Amino acid sequence: MKAMKHELKPVNFKLDLDLRNYLWETRTCMGCVMCKYGDWTYVPSAEEYDFSWVCPEWEWGVMEHYGTAGQIKIVGGLLLGDLSVDHPTVREVAYRCHLCGGCDVSCKRNLDLEILMMHEALMVHLVNAGAGPMPQHKVLAERIERTGNYFGNEAKDRMAWAKEGVRVAKKADLLYFVGCYAAYKYPAIATSVAQILNTAKVPFMIMEGQICCGYKLFTTGLVADVTAVASNTIRKINDLGVKRVVTECADCYRMLKVEYPKVLNMATQDLGFEVLHIAEYADMLIKEGAIKPKKEFPEKVTYHDPCGLGRLSEPWIPWEGIRDPDDWGKLKPRREFRRGTNGCYEPPRNILRSIPGIELVEMRRHHSNAFCSGSCGGVREAFPEQQAFETDVRVREANHVGAETIVTPNPRTLEVFEESLARMNADGISKNIGEVRERFVGAEKSLGVRSLNVKRARDLASLLAAAI
Ligand code: SF4
Ligand code: SF4
Repeated sequence: MKAMKHELKPVNFKLDLDLRNYLWETRTCMGCVMCKYGDWTYVPSAEEYDFSWVCPEWEWGVMEHYGTAGQIKIVGGLLLGDLSVDHPTVREVAYRCHLCGGCDVSCKRNLDLEILMMHEALMVHLVNAGAGPMPQHKVLAERIERTGNYFGNEAKDRMAWAKEGVRVAKKADLLYFVGCYAAYKYPAIATSVAQILNTAKVPFMIMEGQICCGYKLFTTGLVADVTAVASNTIRKINDLGVKRVVTECADCYRMLKVEYPKVLNMATQDLGFEVLHIAEYADMLIKEGAIKPKKEFPEKVTYHDPCGLGRLSEPWIPWEGIRDPDDWGKLKPRREFRRGTNGCYEPPRNILRSIPGIELVEMRRHHSNAFCSGSCGGVREAFPEQQAFETDVRVREANHVGAETIVTPNPRTLEVFEESLARMNADGISKNIGEVRERFVGAEKSLGVRSLNVKRARDLASLLAAAI
């Protein structure tokens, strides 16, 4: 008998924020749930069981619908008409996701599914259908639109940090893009960046009338708003004629380098300027001998990789083509994948190693496997108890490896770490650990851990500025 050949139609696929492009993901996912684990080879004992997960939403929620393996079923249901956007669980599950990308790099160990893009597209889909974002995000978006910043502060105060002694040039090749957190909540971080650049004798300018980068708008699905911010900001930066933009915030960095090109369907390399985090730039300055850390900090330090500076910071490359079902679903033409491997991981660690007295220890989850601090996305605004739980897990992980100091190159992360340390000191770490552990392996397993070694959280730029 003659064998029949089943010819399947190629699937058009554009890597963008249209949820319909991700039906393939929902059909191809094999339910292995590796998207909730970090690199499973380095979780050697029950003591470290709750540091196994890379998905904070799942670690908090435990139930399978929290996290990618569940969300992917929800997306399949929405696309095939079995589920409605009005179902209360759909919105809740979607907005408990941080868009931190842990699941994406984990899934890509097995399959090249575009999980993070699917999560981002799901939020956009909910917004377009009138089911998103959460009420708290609407309040925030209105505040950002009205005032131009996250906190709703006066626009005229954005430069209040640049006090006497800070040298800001009228015109320079380097633009310091000052994020809302450094401008308004942690002015010492902004002055530290200025001090690093001033000490290295690198002239820098700032942008008149700068507004919020739109990170929280993007991570809650308000992409139309972000697109307007992105095109205006890119045009203004190019009008200034600068060659490089430096940020102190991992989220501004992610927006400028990756998400603006993504929403504008352009490549990072076509922005017209280079985007650097101060960690990358200061690492170069130290290597060139332009700055030299001298002051001693005799501290056992661990470094937290923010998602925006780590696995999510690889340059954006637009792609459009087909998935060929007759050839194992291969993408044609070939495309370069972003798997988190080439994020900014070593520059901040190099800086820490260059500061006298610092002993650097790694947490169990680091580099592309890092656990989100809880500050990513819109979870902090809509589900603060979930964010607090996740941040406490990360601080306990630092505690577990004996760190006295957690260093982060991200002001938003500094804020949640400071709150977590205050909470643990007030509540007692053993109570906190007991509560966390009870969910997984029973409270009795936590009896061996009773003291909080972690004394402080530090911002990387501030630490470096204090050391030079
Ligand atoms: S790792 Fe990938 S294939 Fe496995 S369950 Fe998660 S999304 Fe599906
Ligand atoms: S993006 Fe982060 S929070 Fe969301 S499902 Fe993936 S790992 Fe979990």
